[in-house]
Amino acid sequence: MTSPVWHPFTQHGLDEPIPVVARGEGAALHTADGRRIIDAISSWWVTTHGHGNPRIMAAIAEQAGKLDQIIFAGWTHEPAEQLARSLVDMMPAPLSHVFFSDSGSTAVEVALKMALGFWANRNEPRDRILVMEHSYHGDTIGAMSVGARGVFNQAYAPLLFDVGTVPFPRAETEQVTLDALEDACRSRPAAFIVEPLVLGAGGMLFYTPAVLAEMRAICARHGVLFIADEIMTGWGRTGTLLASEQAGVVPDILCLSKGLTGGAIPLAVTLATPAIFDAHRSRDRAKMFFHSSSYTANPIACAAANANIEIWRDEPVLARVADLGQRQQRHLDRIGSHLKIRTVRRAGTIAAFEIEDETGSYLSAIAPRLMAHARDHDVLLRPLGNTVYVMPPYCIDDDDLSAIYDVVESFLDR
Ligand SMILES: *Cc1c(COP(=O)(O)O)cnc(C)c1O
Repeated sequence: MTSPVWHPFTQHGLDEPIPVVARGEGAALHTADGRRIIDAISSWWVTTHGHGNPRIMAAIAEQAGKLDQIIFAGWTHEPAEQLARSLVDMMPAPLSHVFFSDSGSTAVEVALKMALGFWANRNEPRDRILVMEHSYHGDTIGAMSVGARGVFNQAYAPLLFDVGTVPFPRAETEQVTLDALEDACRSRPAAFIVEPLVLGAGGMLFYTPAVLAEMRAICARHGVLFIADEIMTGWGRTGTLLASEQAGVVPDILCLSKGLTGGAIPLAVTLATPAIFDAHRSRDRAKMFFHSSSYTANPIACAAANANIEIWRDEPVLARVADLGQRQQRHLDRIGSHLKIRTVRRAGTIAAFEIEDETGSYLSAIAPRLMAHARDHDVLLRPLGNTVYVMPPYCIDDDDLSAIYDVVESFLDR
């Protein structure tokens, strides 16, 4: 019997096998039929400390025995209070207000609504959002609207709102981006949303901290709100807790999700400065922030995030991240000399390169072929078009990391 499950970003008409995973531990997934699969992409960029982290699992179990779920409008609970306090301590000042939601996409929707609410409540309504070329901010309608247009959202284009797009800051032509942003800021947009240092789904495109700092300065100069989407780059992925740290940048609004619970359970937060919060604080009920989802600040998810933060506090996470980065670099140095490999690059724990291919599009034939080859050799990889990236959990050992690159090499040499 075929499964009734409709999978995300999956073309069911191609009848590709869909492995059943029964158990996860560290950097490995174990299938129901007994194979051990190396998770080379941290289960779509979420798993930081590894699958089944004992401290996070224990926190989930403990919280599940106390309080599973509670309405969060007008009510609260200790896991959320503790998490909000910890986040404010950990994240740069003045990001002092924490709004909860349940996925990266909703964290972005919240950020956009906060930005427009800020201007509306000040009686200076602004509605235009500036974005960077090739960005990805999620798959809900608002998040798609501020992301790159392409085959993934062509059918929904009539529902997407119009945005101002600045070119991606390519090496050597960064000034073009800065000039375009400066120009766009003059027409009084509400906000600029950006993925700091690394554009993930857009193809693992990297740009420099200097450009990020300059973009932030331009927005500040023009009074345009600066939204940092650190959903993929946060929690150590790029070598620091936040990627924006490397540029000394503090956004007005910060979106976090993927590594927030160590990747164990869905949760997201949107942090805001007092200015954004205060614009919504009033005796007038019409000025409150009109957003909620049923599971806002779910206590079990908050407990998992608190355990993640404890791990960050008392384990050498950044040292692990630095070590993984160096090991990634050694593999890149070796594989980079392969004839079919181009533009080898690394940002913290993220290694990326292109495999030579005539199309270069997301629908490049390389992605499904490499994905299938890796799956057949017990590695979970998911290239973006002809862009291959390796982004494992921080706990991956040398043997598993080498095995990932061996699989890529055996694909190239076929
Ligand atoms: C994954 C991602 C999102 C969307 O997060 P979901 O949890 O998948 O909705 C948004 N922005 C960036 C940069 C992401 O990588």
